[in-house]
Amino acid sequence: MRTICVCLVLYISRSIGSTWLQGVVDLGKGAFKGGIHPPDRKAATAGCPVQWAPVPARLVLPMSQHLGAPCVPTVEKGQHVGRGEVIGSVDALVSAPVHSPVDGEVTAIGPWLTTGGTRVTAVTITPDAEQDLESYVRVQADDARAIVRAAGIVGMGGATFPTMVKLMPSADTPVDTVILNGCECEPFLTCDHRLMLEMPEKVVEGARKITEIVGASRAVICLEDNKPDAVEALRRVAGDGVEVRALPTHYPQGAEKQLIWAILRKEVSHGKLPATTGALVHNVATAAAIADAIDTGRPLMERVVTVTGNVARPGNYRVLLGTLVSDLLEYAGGTVGEVGRVIAGGPMTGPALASLDVPVAKGTSGIVVLPLKDAAPRVEDDQPCIRCGRCSESCPMFLLPYAIGNYAARGDWNGAGRFNPLDCIECGCCSFVCPTNRPLVQLIRLAKAAAMLKGVKP
Ligand code: SF4
Ligand code: SF4
Repeated sequence: MRTICVCLVLYISRSIGSTWLQGVVDLGKGAFKGGIHPPDRKAATAGCPVQWAPVPARLVLPMSQHLGAPCVPTVEKGQHVGRGEVIGSVDALVSAPVHSPVDGEVTAIGPWLTTGGTRVTAVTITPDAEQDLESYVRVQADDARAIVRAAGIVGMGGATFPTMVKLMPSADTPVDTVILNGCECEPFLTCDHRLMLEMPEKVVEGARKITEIVGASRAVICLEDNKPDAVEALRRVAGDGVEVRALPTHYPQGAEKQLIWAILRKEVSHGKLPATTGALVHNVATAAAIADAIDTGRPLMERVVTVTGNVARPGNYRVLLGTLVSDLLEYAGGTVGEVGRVIAGGPMTGPALASLDVPVAKGTSGIVVLPLKDAAPRVEDDQPCIRCGRCSESCPMFLLPYAIGNYAARGDWNGAGRFNPLDCIECGCCSFVCPTNRPLVQLIRLAKAAAMLKGVKP
């Protein structure tokens, strides 16, 4: 029941269903079955070099910025901490420690709202007046995997799965190919594009390090072909064992299973892990963070965030983790015009924020301010399904979204469960193409929650 309630909150806050999605429905052709061509809206920031956002007056560091066990604060109120010092950790394997991004004083420990809409324990730090962002407490560990763990690195494309766990393939699923995901197929976002363009050496070095750690034979860095400058920059430095592949621009090319299919022509079977194909997928920003941690002992303390939409100065900002979205938007010149929703991440999959006083976390790739006219909720406007079949045609997971949605709308969870809702990757393609505005992703999320409550395994 608790899971259903959480899903109901997400049902309301999801950005999917916003009217910005409406327009000419273009299924296009990609390197996988299904998918769509949403308007990319990247022009406002694609040419913006990464620049530091300032140190804010306070930082709020949630103890759960990853999938898995939340950290426990290792500091106390009133304690002075150094930049790079661990402020939260836990012994569980599937977890990642949290570090202070500044020299400063712990001024509060308590629950705080996150971008995902949940409240978790967070450590608030008031930075010292003087900061040297070039200096930090270095990570100390015996081997590369332990360094990645100690540096608190998680999937920075938004998945936030602790990276060290993915670097431990089991003996029956050895890794042959490391795939770096630089597709950035979500509209509006350009942070990975700028990272690959400005720091190609670091991304390639990350690919080499991952390949070495897991004993793979090759690495393939994948981009969509709408980033020719980044493709060229990476190819200039790639060298032996690292291939750079430009794939057709087609959403959701950056989804793990679709990427594996595009590169290896191997399907991840129902109920199996992607590792069973011999592929290991990491985001390019994660790879760069791995290279940084191993080469310089740098823990994960900041990340590049695209701030765009209805803001005065859209751009790509290097942001200290824990910076509040309200402070970041203020630095970007504030919002302009009538604001409909503010979304963390891209508009296809990111949650709409319940408050602007939520902190940028390890998985926050973007802050997108949608204008009111583009963000009007459509869920009240939905009409009955007309069985046009567009949703199933666009579904990259071969599902029948209308069937799951129609059963879920009636609360018939057994009926919905017969159509494998747990295979849904929540890409939003079905909602995008539906001519009667059915809130399909939201309904499918409810069906997934119901299936999990019944103990069905994904
Ligand atoms: S796209 Fe919408 S109207 Fe068409 S079959 Fe799917 S749910 Fe029904
Ligand atoms: S059913 Fe899920 S995987 Fe298929 S298009 Fe809809 S959101 Fe994407």
